[in-house]
Amino acid sequence: MDDTGKFSILVVDDEKSNLMMLNGILSKEYTVFTAKSGEDALCRVAEDPPDLILLDIILPGMDGFEVLKRLKGSPDTRGIPVIIITGLTTETDEEKGLLLGAVDYITKPFKNGIVIARIKTHLQIVRQIRLIERLGLVDPLTDIPNRRCFDDRLSIEWRRSIRDKKPISFMMMDVDKFKTYNDTWGHPQGDVLLTSISRIFSSAARRSGDLAARLGGEEFGVLLPDTDIAAALIVAEEIRSRVENLRIPTADGKTETKTTISIGVVSVVPDKNMLVADFISAADKRLYAAKDAGRNCICSETGNNNHEPH
Ligand code: GH3
Ligand code: MG
Ligand code: MG
Repeated sequence: MDDTGKFSILVVDDEKSNLMMLNGILSKEYTVFTAKSGEDALCRVAEDPPDLILLDIILPGMDGFEVLKRLKGSPDTRGIPVIIITGLTTETDEEKGLLLGAVDYITKPFKNGIVIARIKTHLQIVRQIRLIERLGLVDPLTDIPNRRCFDDRLSIEWRRSIRDKKPISFMMMDVDKFKTYNDTWGHPQGDVLLTSISRIFSSAARRSGDLAARLGGEEFGVLLPDTDIAAALIVAEEIRSRVENLRIPTADGKTETKTTISIGVVSVVPDKNMLVADFISAADKRLYAAKDAGRNCICSETGNNNHEPH
């Protein structure tokens, strides 16, 4: 999908008149790209994967079946739905195309309305699949990555750090006295608070590999790959102070509420003998140390960073 929210379609056909015709009926609703050969199509897909492909079979050089086989053979392009649109009308060809992984098979001469309707159906499925993927990895309340997403990324980044012999840092955060906040302002206001502080976490995790996630309840984590303890403590302090200075209005707009968080930070250059679970539980221990030290503060291996709660 492009920046304007339009789905993109790649039309592959060696007949100029077909390309013009399909472009004409599709370009009102979709961003249309064209390719005149199988090789050209694969290049385009590698450069900028479309949301759907309309694929002719008889092409100069590599034929459409071969293009389809290659698309379905690569994990990067396997998920792109391919509709075959061809002059080959036998059942054998249709069966071959569908067995190779095409989602649909349209024979020429085609009716414009049928092509449009079938494209719509398959793009609707694309939309649903993306939604399901998103729902599986994003926390619905705060709209930031959830625990599952965090765990997936953690194991990837952990292995990368071992391989590259680079430090990896992690901070675990918990809202101070959140039970009291909920009791005072109500659970829905508590939800607003969680959403507001999530924005701070995401914006502080600003490098491309950084990840801020809701780990559960009122507990959050920020993963900072390729980051040593000194740099992690700077990010932690930025987060701590931005939360402390945050003022969240109540629903009736009459009062501004405040909150603070406690943070446990760990950093390590991992090796094969270390367990990622120990890394996370070390952060948890530091978080509890921060709570014990009076809350609204950061605790790390290198010592505590105390701030009196206001
Ligand atoms: P501490 O400073 O020791 O962390 O105290 P606390 O009150 O924050 O700790 P506790 O673990 O006792 O309370 C956590 C509270 O978080 C209780 C629970 O109702 C609330 N909570 C967990 N998830 C949500 C949520 O999604 N929305 C709201 N509003 N509250 C939640
Ligand atoms: Mg708490
Ligand atoms: Mg808690």
